[in-house]
Amino acid sequence: MIVRSAQSLCPVCLRRLDAAYVREGDAVFLRKTCQEHGPFTVPVWRAPQAAPVPHFTAWSRPKAPSFPEHPLTSVREGCPYDCGLCPEHGQHTCTGLVEVTMRCNMACPVCYADAGRADAAPDPELDDIAARLDMLRHVSGPCNLQLSGGEPTVREDLPEIIGMARRRGFGLVQCNTNGLRLAREDGYAAALARAGLDSVYLQWDGAREESTAILRGRHCLDAKRRAVENCARAGLGVVLVATVVRGINDGELGELLRLALRLGPAVRGLHIQPAAFFGRYPWPLEKSPRLTLPEVMAALSQQAPELADAADFHPPGCEHELCSFSAVYRRTESEGKPGLAPLDMPASCCPPSAIPASAAAGALASRRFTALHWKGMPPPPPTGDDVSRDVDGFDRFLARAGAAQRFTLSCMAFQDAMSLDLARVRGCCIHVARHDGRLIPFCLHNLTSEGGARLYGDGR
Ligand SMILES: [Zn+2]
Repeated sequence: MIVRSAQSLCPVCLRRLDAAYVREGDAVFLRKTCQEHGPFTVPVWRAPQAAPVPHFTAWSRPKAPSFPEHPLTSVREGCPYDCGLCPEHGQHTCTGLVEVTMRCNMACPVCYADAGRADAAPDPELDDIAARLDMLRHVSGPCNLQLSGGEPTVREDLPEIIGMARRRGFGLVQCNTNGLRLAREDGYAAALARAGLDSVYLQWDGAREESTAILRGRHCLDAKRRAVENCARAGLGVVLVATVVRGINDGELGELLRLALRLGPAVRGLHIQPAAFFGRYPWPLEKSPRLTLPEVMAALSQQAPELADAADFHPPGCEHELCSFSAVYRRTESEGKPGLAPLDMPASCCPPSAIPASAAAGALASRRFTALHWKGMPPPPPTGDDVSRDVDGFDRFLARAGAAQRFTLSCMAFQDAMSLDLARVRGCCIHVARHDGRLIPFCLHNLTSEGGARLYGDGR
Protein backbone atom coordinates (compact mmCIF):
# COMPACT_ATOMS: atom_id res chain seq x y z
CA MET A 1 0.00 0.00 0.00
CA ILE A 2 1.37 3.41 -0.99
CA VAL A 3 1.67 5.70 2.05
CA ARG A 4 2.92 8.76 0.20
CA SER A 5 4.73 9.73 -2.97
CA ALA A 6 8.24 11.13 -3.10
CA GLN A 7 11.09 11.96 -5.45
CA SER A 8 14.45 10.25 -5.29
CA LEU A 9 17.42 9.36 -7.51
CA CYS A 10 18.53 6.25 -9.36
CA PRO A 11 21.43 4.94 -7.27
CA VAL A 12 23.26 3.92 -10.45
CA CYS A 13 22.93 6.92 -12.81
CA LEU A 14 21.72 9.54 -10.26
CA ARG A 15 18.79 10.53 -12.52
CA ARG A 16 15.80 11.98 -10.66
CA LEU A 17 12.99 9.43 -10.26
CA ASP A 18 9.45 9.39 -8.91
CA ALA A 19 9.32 7.19 -5.84
CA ALA A 20 6.81 6.04 -3.22
CA TYR A 21 6.77 5.07 0.42
CA VAL A 22 5.08 1.69 0.50
CA ARG A 23 3.84 -0.13 3.60
CA GLU A 24 4.36 -3.88 3.86
CA GLY A 25 3.19 -5.27 7.18
CA ASP A 26 4.69 -3.05 9.88
CA ALA A 27 7.55 -1.83 7.69
CA VAL A 28 7.74 1.03 5.19
CA PHE A 29 10.00 0.92 2.13
CA LEU A 30 11.02 3.55 -0.42
CA ARG A 31 10.47 2.19 -3.93
CA LYS A 32 11.52 3.57 -7.29
CA THR A 33 12.31 2.36 -10.79
CA CYS A 34 14.87 3.68 -13.26
CA GLN A 35 13.96 2.92 -16.88
CA GLU A 36 17.56 1.98 -17.51
CA HIS A 37 18.64 0.39 -14.22
CA GLY A 38 15.45 -1.19 -12.92
CA PRO A 39 13.62 -1.22 -9.60
CA PHE A 40 15.14 -0.36 -6.20
CA THR A 41 13.68 -0.85 -2.73
CA VAL A 42 15.11 0.26 0.59
CA PRO A 43 13.66 -0.04 4.11
CA VAL A 44 12.95 3.34 5.71
CA TRP A 45 10.90 2.46 8.78
CA ARG A 46 10.89 -0.93 10.46
CA ALA A 47 11.29 -2.36 13.94
CA PRO A 48 11.31 -5.71 15.69
CA GLN A 49 7.79 -7.07 16.14
CA ALA A 50 6.00 -5.73 19.20
CA ALA A 51 8.61 -3.02 19.76
CA PRO A 52 6.79 0.01 21.19
CA VAL A 53 7.95 2.45 18.52
CA PRO A 54 5.80 5.06 16.73
CA HIS A 55 4.17 4.29 13.40
CA PHE A 56 5.50 5.93 10.26
CA THR A 57 2.42 8.10 9.74
CA ALA A 58 2.16 9.11 13.42
CA TRP A 59 5.76 10.36 13.27
CA SER A 60 4.99 12.81 10.43
CA ARG A 61 5.68 16.52 11.17
CA PRO A 62 4.89 18.84 8.25
CA LYS A 63 6.59 22.24 8.46
CA ALA A 64 6.15 25.56 6.74
CA PRO A 65 9.40 25.94 4.77
CA SER A 66 11.90 28.65 5.65
CA PHE A 67 13.53 29.80 2.41
CA PRO A 68 17.10 31.16 2.33
CA GLU A 69 17.44 34.93 2.56
CA HIS A 70 20.65 34.74 0.55
CA PRO A 71 20.37 31.90 -2.02
CA LEU A 72 23.69 31.32 -3.79
CA THR A 73 22.42 29.43 -6.85
CA SER A 74 19.34 29.64 -9.07
CA VAL A 75 16.87 26.93 -10.06
CA ARG A 76 17.65 25.41 -13.47
CA GLU A 77 17.52 21.62 -13.38
CA GLY A 78 15.58 21.40 -10.10
CA CYS A 79 16.46 19.65 -6.84
CA PRO A 80 19.00 18.13 -6.23
CA TYR A 81 21.04 19.43 -9.18
CA ASP A 82 21.14 23.19 -8.44
CA CYS A 83 22.25 22.97 -4.85
CA GLY A 84 24.17 25.73 -3.30
CA LEU A 85 21.66 26.65 -1.53
CA CYS A 86 19.01 27.43 -4.15
CA PRO A 87 15.93 29.60 -3.49
CA GLU A 88 13.74 26.49 -3.05
CA HIS A 89 15.67 25.11 -0.09
CA GLY A 90 13.27 24.87 2.85
CA GLN A 91 15.39 25.18 5.97
CA HIS A 92 17.98 27.42 7.63
CA THR A 93 21.43 26.22 8.59
CA CYS A 94 21.64 24.84 12.15
CA THR A 95 25.09 23.37 11.71
CA GLY A 96 27.56 24.56 9.10
CA LEU A 97 30.35 22.15 8.38
CA VAL A 98 33.80 22.92 6.99
CA GLU A 99 36.14 20.13 5.93
CA VAL A 100 39.60 21.34 6.88
CA THR A 101 41.54 18.34 5.55
CA MET A 102 41.02 15.11 3.67
CA ARG A 103 44.03 13.52 5.42
CA CYS A 104 43.53 11.13 8.32
CA ASN A 105 45.65 9.32 10.92
CA MET A 106 43.44 6.24 10.73
CA ALA A 107 42.38 4.04 7.81
CA CYS A 108 38.87 2.98 8.77
CA PRO A 109 37.12 0.40 6.57
CA VAL A 110 33.99 2.58 7.01
CA CYS A 111 34.31 6.33 6.30
CA TYR A 112 31.62 8.57 4.85
CA ALA A 113 34.23 11.07 3.70
CA ASP A 114 36.48 8.41 2.12
CA ALA A 115 39.30 10.24 3.91
CA GLY A 116 42.97 9.37 4.14
CA ARG A 117 43.36 8.21 0.55
CA ALA A 118 46.80 8.37 -1.03
CA ASP A 119 45.33 10.72 -3.67
CA ALA A 120 43.63 12.97 -1.11
CA ALA A 121 43.46 16.62 -2.15
CA PRO A 122 45.94 18.92 -0.40
CA ASP A 123 44.66 20.71 2.72
CA PRO A 124 42.77 23.92 1.98
CA GLU A 125 44.81 27.05 2.70
CA LEU A 126 43.81 29.27 5.61
CA ASP A 127 42.45 31.97 3.29
CA ASP A 128 40.25 29.37 1.58
CA ILE A 129 38.90 28.34 4.99
CA ALA A 130 38.42 32.00 5.94
CA ALA A 131 36.40 32.55 2.75
CA ARG A 132 34.18 29.57 3.56
CA LEU A 133 33.61 30.80 7.12
CA ASP A 134 32.73 34.28 5.81
CA MET A 135 30.28 32.83 3.28
CA LEU A 136 28.68 30.65 5.95
CA ARG A 137 28.39 33.58 8.38
CA HIS A 138 26.82 35.76 5.65
CA VAL A 139 24.32 33.16 4.42
CA SER A 140 23.53 31.35 7.66
CA GLY A 141 24.20 33.85 10.44
CA PRO A 142 25.71 32.73 13.75
CA CYS A 143 24.93 29.05 13.22
CA ASN A 144 26.79 26.27 14.98
CA LEU A 145 30.02 25.29 13.25
CA GLN A 146 31.61 21.89 12.95
CA LEU A 147 35.19 21.55 11.75
CA SER A 148 35.40 18.22 10.02
CA GLY A 149 37.44 16.25 7.53
CA GLY A 150 39.31 13.93 7.25
CA GLU A 151 40.79 14.18 10.70
CA PRO A 152 41.08 17.88 11.65
CA THR A 153 43.75 17.26 14.32
CA VAL A 154 46.33 16.25 11.70
CA ARG A 155 46.58 19.97 10.84
CA GLU A 156 49.17 21.74 12.97
CA ASP A 157 47.30 25.01 12.46
CA LEU A 158 43.97 23.70 13.82
CA PRO A 159 44.09 26.13 16.80
CA GLU A 160 44.43 28.98 14.31
CA ILE A 161 41.40 27.73 12.36
CA ILE A 162 39.42 27.46 15.60
CA GLY A 163 40.40 31.04 16.42
CA MET A 164 39.26 32.21 12.96
CA ALA A 165 35.88 30.55 13.57
CA ARG A 166 35.62 31.99 17.09
CA ARG A 167 36.28 35.53 15.89
CA ARG A 168 33.46 35.26 13.36
CA GLY A 169 30.94 34.68 16.13
CA PHE A 170 29.58 31.23 15.39
CA GLY A 171 27.23 29.97 18.12
CA LEU A 172 29.21 26.80 18.80
CA VAL A 173 32.63 25.78 17.50
CA GLN A 174 32.93 22.03 17.48
CA CYS A 175 35.57 19.66 16.16
CA ASN A 176 34.80 16.27 14.69
CA THR A 177 37.61 13.85 15.61
CA ASN A 178 38.64 10.26 16.19
CA GLY A 179 40.29 11.45 19.42
CA LEU A 180 43.71 9.87 18.91
CA ARG A 181 45.68 13.09 19.22
CA LEU A 182 43.52 14.32 22.12
CA ALA A 183 44.37 11.06 23.89
CA ARG A 184 48.09 10.95 23.39
CA GLU A 185 49.31 14.54 23.40
CA ASP A 186 49.54 16.28 26.77
CA GLY A 187 48.03 19.74 26.69
CA TYR A 188 46.46 19.37 23.25
CA ALA A 189 42.83 19.47 24.48
CA ALA A 190 43.69 22.53 26.58
CA ALA A 191 45.33 24.22 23.58
CA LEU A 192 42.20 23.70 21.48
CA ALA A 193 40.02 25.01 24.31
CA ARG A 194 42.24 28.09 24.65
CA ALA A 195 41.92 28.69 20.91
CA GLY A 196 38.13 28.84 21.35
CA LEU A 197 36.88 25.30 20.82
CA ASP A 198 33.63 24.53 22.67
CA SER A 199 32.94 20.93 22.00
CA VAL A 200 34.35 17.70 20.63
CA TYR A 201 32.30 15.42 18.40
CA LEU A 202 34.10 12.20 19.25
CA GLN A 203 33.87 9.08 17.11
CA TRP A 204 33.00 6.21 19.51
CA ASP A 205 31.19 3.32 17.89
CA GLY A 206 30.68 0.70 20.54
CA ALA A 207 31.33 -0.74 23.95
CA ARG A 208 33.52 -3.60 22.71
CA GLU A 209 36.87 -3.66 20.95
CA GLU A 210 35.73 -6.42 18.56
CA SER A 211 33.06 -4.35 16.82
CA THR A 212 35.20 -1.22 16.94
CA ALA A 213 37.96 -3.13 15.17
CA ILE A 214 35.60 -4.17 12.36
CA LEU A 215 34.55 -0.57 11.71
CA ARG A 216 37.88 1.14 12.49
CA GLY A 217 40.50 -1.45 11.61
CA ARG A 218 42.09 -1.33 15.08
CA HIS A 219 41.40 -1.36 18.81
CA CYS A 220 40.92 2.14 20.16
CA LEU A 221 38.65 2.23 23.21
CA ASP A 222 41.48 3.03 25.66
CA ALA A 223 42.54 5.96 23.52
CA LYS A 224 38.95 7.23 23.33
CA ARG A 225 38.65 7.04 27.12
CA ARG A 226 41.84 9.06 27.55
CA ALA A 227 40.57 11.58 25.01
CA VAL A 228 37.39 12.12 27.07
CA GLU A 229 39.43 12.52 30.28
CA ASN A 230 41.66 15.11 28.64
CA CYS A 231 38.66 17.01 27.22
CA ALA A 232 36.99 16.98 30.65
CA ARG A 233 40.12 18.46 32.26
CA ALA A 234 40.27 21.13 29.55
CA GLY A 235 36.60 22.06 30.02
CA LEU A 236 35.51 20.82 26.60
CA GLY A 237 32.06 19.26 26.17
CA VAL A 238 32.09 15.89 24.41
CA VAL A 239 29.42 14.17 22.32
CA LEU A 240 30.04 10.51 21.57
CA VAL A 241 29.17 9.76 17.95
CA ALA A 242 28.58 6.15 17.00
CA THR A 243 28.49 4.80 13.46
CA VAL A 244 26.18 1.83 13.72
CA VAL A 245 25.83 -1.13 11.36
CA ARG A 246 23.19 -3.83 11.71
CA GLY A 247 24.77 -7.09 12.79
CA ILE A 248 28.02 -5.46 13.92
CA ASN A 249 27.38 -3.05 16.76
CA ASP A 250 23.60 -2.50 16.94
CA GLY A 251 23.48 -5.10 19.71
CA GLU A 252 25.61 -3.01 22.06
CA LEU A 253 23.83 0.36 21.94
CA GLY A 254 22.49 -0.11 25.47
CA GLU A 255 25.95 -0.97 26.73
CA LEU A 256 27.36 2.05 24.91
CA LEU A 257 24.78 4.32 26.55
CA ARG A 258 25.76 3.04 30.03
CA LEU A 259 29.40 3.54 29.17
CA ALA A 260 28.74 7.10 27.96
CA LEU A 261 27.11 7.94 31.30
CA ARG A 262 29.93 6.36 33.31
CA LEU A 263 32.41 8.64 31.52
CA GLY A 264 30.96 11.53 33.51
CA PRO A 265 29.36 14.93 32.94
CA ALA A 266 31.87 16.09 30.29
CA VAL A 267 30.00 13.70 27.99
CA ARG A 268 26.92 15.69 27.03
CA GLY A 269 25.29 13.13 24.81
CA LEU A 270 25.36 10.06 22.63
CA HIS A 271 24.60 10.58 18.96
CA ILE A 272 23.96 7.56 16.75
CA GLN A 273 24.51 7.53 13.01
CA PRO A 274 23.43 4.42 11.11
CA ALA A 275 26.01 3.89 8.35
CA ALA A 276 24.91 5.04 4.89
CA PHE A 277 26.11 4.01 1.47
CA PHE A 278 28.65 6.73 0.78
CA GLY A 279 32.40 7.16 0.90
CA ARG A 280 34.07 3.92 2.03
CA TYR A 281 31.30 1.43 2.69
CA PRO A 282 32.25 -2.24 2.35
CA TRP A 283 28.76 -3.70 1.77
CA PRO A 284 26.87 -4.13 -1.50
CA LEU A 285 24.26 -1.46 -2.26
CA GLU A 286 21.14 -3.62 -2.30
CA LYS A 287 22.15 -5.99 0.50
CA SER A 288 23.58 -3.39 2.80
CA PRO A 289 22.97 -3.93 6.55
CA ARG A 290 20.82 -0.85 7.07
CA LEU A 291 19.29 0.38 10.30
CA THR A 292 16.24 2.64 10.34
CA LEU A 293 15.26 5.14 13.04
CA PRO A 294 12.70 2.88 14.80
CA GLU A 295 15.22 0.02 14.87
CA VAL A 296 17.59 2.28 16.79
CA MET A 297 14.77 3.42 19.13
CA ALA A 298 13.89 -0.22 19.78
CA ALA A 299 17.53 -1.21 20.33
CA LEU A 300 18.09 1.55 22.90
CA SER A 301 14.88 0.95 24.82
CA GLN A 302 15.22 -2.85 24.81
CA GLN A 303 18.95 -2.97 25.60
CA ALA A 304 18.92 -0.25 28.28
CA PRO A 305 15.32 -0.25 29.57
CA GLU A 306 16.47 1.27 32.87
CA LEU A 307 17.70 4.37 30.98
CA ALA A 308 15.67 4.90 27.82
CA ASP A 309 12.10 4.33 26.72
CA ALA A 310 10.91 4.55 23.12
CA ALA A 311 8.30 7.07 24.33
CA ASP A 312 11.15 9.47 25.22
CA PHE A 313 12.07 9.98 21.58
CA HIS A 314 10.70 12.92 19.60
CA PRO A 315 10.88 13.87 15.93
CA PRO A 316 13.02 16.91 15.17
CA GLY A 317 11.52 20.39 15.14
CA CYS A 318 14.10 21.47 12.61
CA GLU A 319 15.12 18.97 9.94
CA HIS A 320 12.72 16.54 8.20
CA GLU A 321 11.13 14.00 10.55
CA LEU A 322 12.60 11.00 8.70
CA CYS A 323 16.11 12.31 9.38
CA SER A 324 16.37 12.07 13.15
CA PHE A 325 15.01 11.54 16.62
CA SER A 326 16.20 12.79 19.98
CA ALA A 327 15.51 12.97 23.69
CA VAL A 328 16.82 15.18 26.49
CA TYR A 329 17.39 13.82 29.97
CA ARG A 330 18.58 14.90 33.37
CA ARG A 331 21.34 12.78 34.87
CA THR A 332 20.35 10.93 38.03
CA GLU A 333 22.07 8.41 40.26
CA SER A 334 20.75 5.49 42.19
CA GLU A 335 22.80 3.07 44.30
CA GLY A 336 25.96 4.45 42.75
CA LYS A 337 24.80 3.80 39.18
CA PRO A 338 24.25 6.67 36.74
CA GLY A 339 20.69 7.00 35.51
CA LEU A 340 18.52 9.23 33.33
CA ALA A 341 15.19 10.98 33.80
CA PRO A 342 13.48 12.40 30.71
CA LEU A 343 13.09 16.18 30.60
CA ASP A 344 10.00 17.62 28.93
CA MET A 345 10.84 20.53 26.72
CA PRO A 346 8.44 23.31 25.68
CA ALA A 347 6.68 22.67 22.39
CA SER A 348 8.77 25.16 20.45
CA CYS A 349 12.09 23.62 21.40
CA CYS A 350 14.09 21.18 19.44
CA PRO A 351 15.48 18.71 19.92
CA PRO A 352 13.01 17.29 20.74
CA SER A 353 9.74 18.99 19.85
CA ALA A 354 6.17 18.88 18.89
CA ILE A 355 5.21 20.72 15.69
CA PRO A 356 6.97 24.08 15.67
CA ALA A 357 5.21 27.13 14.31
CA SER A 358 7.61 27.15 11.39
CA ALA A 359 10.82 25.67 10.11
CA ALA A 360 12.48 28.96 11.07
CA ALA A 361 11.43 28.67 14.71
CA GLY A 362 12.57 25.07 14.77
CA ALA A 363 15.96 26.00 13.36
CA LEU A 364 16.49 28.81 15.86
CA ALA A 365 15.50 26.67 18.85
CA SER A 366 17.65 23.78 17.69
CA ARG A 367 20.68 25.96 17.10
CA ARG A 368 20.43 27.60 20.51
CA PHE A 369 19.83 24.34 22.34
CA THR A 370 22.82 22.66 20.71
CA ALA A 371 25.10 25.62 21.34
CA LEU A 372 24.17 25.88 24.97
CA HIS A 373 23.99 22.24 25.84
CA TRP A 374 27.04 20.93 24.04
CA LYS A 375 29.34 23.56 25.48
CA GLY A 376 27.55 24.65 28.65
CA MET A 377 27.79 28.41 28.22
CA PRO A 378 24.95 30.92 27.70
CA PRO A 379 23.78 31.14 24.07
CA PRO A 380 23.53 34.51 22.34
CA PRO A 381 20.01 35.92 22.82
CA PRO A 382 17.98 35.94 19.59
CA THR A 383 17.71 39.73 19.49
CA GLY A 384 16.13 41.26 16.45
CA ASP A 385 14.98 37.88 15.24
CA ASP A 386 11.31 37.84 14.34
CA VAL A 387 10.96 34.20 15.36
CA SER A 388 12.25 34.79 18.89
CA ARG A 389 8.71 34.88 20.27
CA ASP A 390 8.36 31.24 19.20
CA VAL A 391 11.01 30.14 21.66
CA ASP A 392 9.27 31.54 24.74
CA GLY A 393 9.82 29.19 27.62
CA PHE A 394 13.10 27.99 26.17
CA ASP A 395 15.30 29.84 28.64
CA ARG A 396 13.15 28.70 31.52
CA PHE A 397 13.60 25.14 30.31
CA LEU A 398 17.35 25.52 30.01
CA ALA A 399 17.55 26.87 33.54
CA ARG A 400 15.86 23.79 34.97
CA ALA A 401 18.93 21.60 34.59
CA GLY A 402 22.47 22.84 34.04
CA ALA A 403 24.39 21.67 30.98
CA ALA A 404 26.50 19.23 32.96
CA GLN A 405 23.37 17.61 34.34
CA ARG A 406 21.66 17.22 30.98
CA PHE A 407 22.25 14.36 28.58
CA THR A 408 20.97 14.07 25.01
CA LEU A 409 20.33 10.86 23.17
CA SER A 410 19.89 11.32 19.45
CA CYS A 411 20.10 9.59 16.12
CA MET A 412 20.45 10.88 12.59
CA ALA A 413 19.74 8.71 9.56
CA PHE A 414 21.78 9.99 6.64
CA GLN A 415 20.37 9.63 3.16
CA ASP A 416 22.33 7.86 0.48
CA ALA A 417 21.50 7.23 -3.17
CA MET A 418 19.10 4.45 -2.17
CA SER A 419 17.16 6.29 0.53
CA LEU A 420 17.33 9.88 -0.79
CA ASP A 421 14.05 11.78 -0.61
CA LEU A 422 14.18 15.26 -2.12
CA ALA A 423 11.70 16.58 0.47
CA ARG A 424 14.16 15.50 3.17
CA VAL A 425 17.04 17.14 1.31
CA ARG A 426 15.14 20.44 1.05
CA GLY A 427 14.42 20.28 4.80
CA CYS A 428 18.08 19.70 5.69
CA CYS A 429 19.74 22.05 8.22
CA ILE A 430 23.28 20.59 8.17
CA HIS A 431 25.15 22.33 5.38
CA VAL A 432 28.70 21.94 4.11
CA ALA A 433 30.54 25.16 3.17
CA ARG A 434 32.66 24.11 0.20
CA HIS A 435 35.70 25.26 -1.70
CA ASP A 436 33.53 26.07 -4.75
CA GLY A 437 31.48 28.58 -2.72
CA ARG A 438 28.42 26.35 -2.51
CA LEU A 439 26.58 25.53 0.69
CA ILE A 440 25.21 21.99 0.29
CA PRO A 441 23.21 19.64 2.56
CA PHE A 442 25.55 17.11 4.15
CA CYS A 443 23.97 14.11 2.42
CA LEU A 444 24.15 15.65 -1.05
CA HIS A 445 27.75 16.70 -0.46
CA ASN A 446 28.68 13.10 0.33
CA LEU A 447 26.25 11.38 -2.06
CA THR A 448 27.87 8.74 -4.26
CA SER A 449 26.40 6.48 -6.93
CA GLU A 450 26.70 2.71 -6.74
CA GLY A 451 29.84 3.03 -8.86
CA GLY A 452 31.38 5.64 -6.55
CA ALA A 453 30.69 8.77 -8.66
CA ARG A 454 29.92 11.80 -6.48
CA LEU A 455 26.89 13.96 -7.30
CA TYR A 456 28.85 17.03 -6.14
CA GLY A 457 32.34 15.65 -6.58
CA ASP A 458 34.18 18.73 -7.75
CA GLY A 459 34.84 21.68 -5.51
CA ARG A 460 34.89 19.79 -2.24
ZN1 LIG B 1 19.44 4.76 -13.59
